[in-house]
Amino acid sequence: MTTAVLSTFSAPKGTYDLIPPDSEAFLAVREAIAAPLRRAGYGYIETPGFEHVELFSRGVGESTDIVTKEMYTLTTKGGDELALRPEGTASVLRAALQANLHRGALPVKLWYSGSYYRYERPQAGRYRHFSQVGAEALGSEDPALDAELIILAVDAYRSLGLRNFRLLLNSLGDKECRPVYRAALQDFLRGLDLDEDTRRRVEINPLRVLDDKREAVQKQLTGAPMMRDHLCEACKEYHEQVRALLTAAGVEFEDDPKLVRGLDYYTRTTFEFVHDGLGSQSAIGGGGRYDGLSEMIGGPALPSVGWALGVDRTVLALRAENVGLAAESRTEVFAVPLGDEARRALFGVVTELRRGGIAADFAYGGKGLKNAMKSANRSGARYAVVAGERDLAEGVVQLKDLQSGEQSPVPLDAVVTEVRGRLA
Ligand code: AMP
Repeated sequence: MTTAVLSTFSAPKGTYDLIPPDSEAFLAVREAIAAPLRRAGYGYIETPGFEHVELFSRGVGESTDIVTKEMYTLTTKGGDELALRPEGTASVLRAALQANLHRGALPVKLWYSGSYYRYERPQAGRYRHFSQVGAEALGSEDPALDAELIILAVDAYRSLGLRNFRLLLNSLGDKECRPVYRAALQDFLRGLDLDEDTRRRVEINPLRVLDDKREAVQKQLTGAPMMRDHLCEACKEYHEQVRALLTAAGVEFEDDPKLVRGLDYYTRTTFEFVHDGLGSQSAIGGGGRYDGLSEMIGGPALPSVGWALGVDRTVLALRAENVGLAAESRTEVFAVPLGDEARRALFGVVTELRRGGIAADFAYGGKGLKNAMKSANRSGARYAVVAGERDLAEGVVQLKDLQSGEQSPVPLDAVVTEVRGRLA
């Protein structure tokens, strides 16, 4: 055994720890995204952190960066090929099919929250371990459902106080019109001056070429055929309904005919939320309709729509806008015992306060008065409960207002009532 200095004190590249007080913002964001979903009838679902590799290669798409370059895969001792989940939709759909939820009332509306893993080049806002809250509505082809999900995401962002985000909207067509468009786009792209990688992409997934960020590629895309000019009547009508419902709900959007997103399973409605204060990693969330995904992973036809919002980037976006989030459980009362008898008595008071719904903490470690009062002030508590032997002999504790400095005795058995009255 070596006792050399452990490099394990630094988290793996592309990851970071959530530490108080900053971690509070992550909890607040997760809760703010979940609240509108709960009000809209979405039930909570949790799936394993890893799945069979095949679920993602079939579901997310063999030609995507996520599957070809970014998946954390492993072979178990038993020989199973698994992957840490790079996204949530395929897992949620797999779980719903396994539990036969699709045989019950449709749509099945589910939300989830968790960690996702992609072996990406780390940079500001792009991590190898990140956090999403997502929602999926399975088994229904209804533009109101697409609109509902987009509205719920907008409401979540707004409830957090976020302002400078934009919604980009597009339709990717369906199995009728998409193949025709794909062929037209391929014809166009084959005539361009592209590097070998990109030419390969033209053959496997030509829509992704539209999304290429490089100037040299973008320059050549002027005049490329656009999906919106190739939508079939049914897709056009569907998209118009989504747009009308969003407008009626006061949700602004920008039509972005080049929006294709990084996963293969999208059909019809696709959207992305971008924030202008984040630099190159500006997507704070995205999603769309995936009518063919269930069949791609071996299930029945199950037209569905969903999104995933990035918790890490939403926190960064809030910071960029200087939006503060109120911490949930700030200590309200801090107990400072002087001597052993007071320790026992005040430990009891703290327990009683907490059980009474008041956030309370205690000067642990047998600190002297001066240090204990420092801890009380640092805790942000409004009140300190201080007691020594003499107080206890009189059956009281001293209740000190840490803002005004005023102090008064309160009977030991009346502390909770008194504190509650004062905090109200
Ligand atoms: P996607 O599943 O790629 O559509 O991602 C949905 C959202 O998750 C994005 O809009 C980002 O906010 C967030 N996200 C995706 N990948 C990462 C990453 N590597 N690091 C941080 N956030 C990410």
